[in-house]
Amino acid sequence: MEGLIPYIIDAIRKEKPRNMKSHTLSHSHSNSSECSYHLLLGSDSFNHRRITAATTSSHAANNLRNCKSRRLERKKGRRSMGLRSVLDGGELRREFEKSGFDPKFIPIIWKHVNANVIANVEEEEEEDWDWEKRVPSLPSSLYSLLRSNFKTPLSSSLHSVFHSSDNLTSKLLIKLQNGAFVEAVIMRYDTRLGKYGGKPRPGGPRATLCISSQVGCKMGCKFCATGSMGFKNNLSSGEIVEQLIHASAFSQIRNVVFMGMGEPLNNYSAVVEAVRIMTRLPFQLSLKRITISTVGIIHAINKLHDDLPGLNLAVSLHAPDQAIRCQIMPAARAFPLEKLMDSLHQYQRKSLQKILIEYIMLDAVNDEEQHAHQLGKLLETFEVVVNLIPFNSIGTLSQFKPTSAQKVSNFQKILRGTYNIRTTVRKQMGQDISGACGQLVVSMPNKSLGNADPVTDIEDLVS
Ligand code: SF4
Repeated sequence: MEGLIPYIIDAIRKEKPRNMKSHTLSHSHSNSSECSYHLLLGSDSFNHRRITAATTSSHAANNLRNCKSRRLERKKGRRSMGLRSVLDGGELRREFEKSGFDPKFIPIIWKHVNANVIANVEEEEEEDWDWEKRVPSLPSSLYSLLRSNFKTPLSSSLHSVFHSSDNLTSKLLIKLQNGAFVEAVIMRYDTRLGKYGGKPRPGGPRATLCISSQVGCKMGCKFCATGSMGFKNNLSSGEIVEQLIHASAFSQIRNVVFMGMGEPLNNYSAVVEAVRIMTRLPFQLSLKRITISTVGIIHAINKLHDDLPGLNLAVSLHAPDQAIRCQIMPAARAFPLEKLMDSLHQYQRKSLQKILIEYIMLDAVNDEEQHAHQLGKLLETFEVVVNLIPFNSIGTLSQFKPTSAQKVSNFQKILRGTYNIRTTVRKQMGQDISGACGQLVVSMPNKSLGNADPVTDIEDLVS
């Protein structure tokens, strides 16, 4: 997953979050190590103190609040563990079919759940969610179906939020029903800060949400903190969509990228269902504004266009040959490079869309001139954008070192000059959430966000 995040982050500009004060974070939960990420955080990516100062009035009050919240969560967890998310579309439809309800009520239910969660983000917890009051005008027997099968209002809860000092980025720490944590990251950007023909570009503020599809990851990429934590569990489609609902309380989300924790194509059916839900009422995101990033799960790529035509695909290539890929991405053994490239050719023939190629720059591993030429030859018959990502060892148990800026620049020049491949470099900014194939650990309290130079965001890349 990944490499788009750097662009997105590099691109984000100020747009004040709609809500900054009620969720602040203590980072004191014992499961914080579960919050690693498919994102690569910049070297000081979360300055906890600054964020706290910007978003709270009283640390003591927040501690009290968090304790209360945890007690409430424990109580609620005991009561409702095992109930599904009402955003689990397949499950909800099955229950409707079994009971003979008209599926036309499904978007109505989601619309009200979404609106209520957004409107009540300031509230601690929905202790006594009242279906009749919150989602009016449903058949009375449908209320009992909802009450007995689905957790209300959502199956996950917003544990806390970090806002960057410049308000460009917000990290949401979300607690799943099973007690695990995932992160979702909102990145804000204002097109008017860019120039077109010497004038400010048209448009306005927009926000991209980076979401997680798994807790942990099986892929084991050597440069990734998430990879080192192993695989814990898949998220359900509802848990994936719930990240969008939580985030919508802070910004109107226009783009979604699956670049958080996990390999989305290893949780294929839930991810496909979640994307479909996001593109329908009441969410209505455009498929063109959703990007799935993968290490290259060939059998899944082969069916992705048929299942989600119009979706954007990003591939974490990271090496120009199979030997180096296997060295840094053990999962690549199961997905030989030659077969992967065949699959991408097929995908591009069908989709007629650009593919985004992520390439993390590791000193003396994959960053020599010969590698640039190998990569250029590998990609010259594709329509791609290559995103070179300077490696950041923070948050990884890394044996790798970052490539020098000069070498990154040479690498870019070769791809552009010799092979005419659009190639961008993620700026090595200590304060942003970067993003390539996942690296980061949500629990790192001394990382700060923001102050990234705007370059472009995901929408500019895929258009
Ligand atoms: S970089 Fe590799 S190990 Fe890390 S989350 Fe992505 S696929 Fe998983």
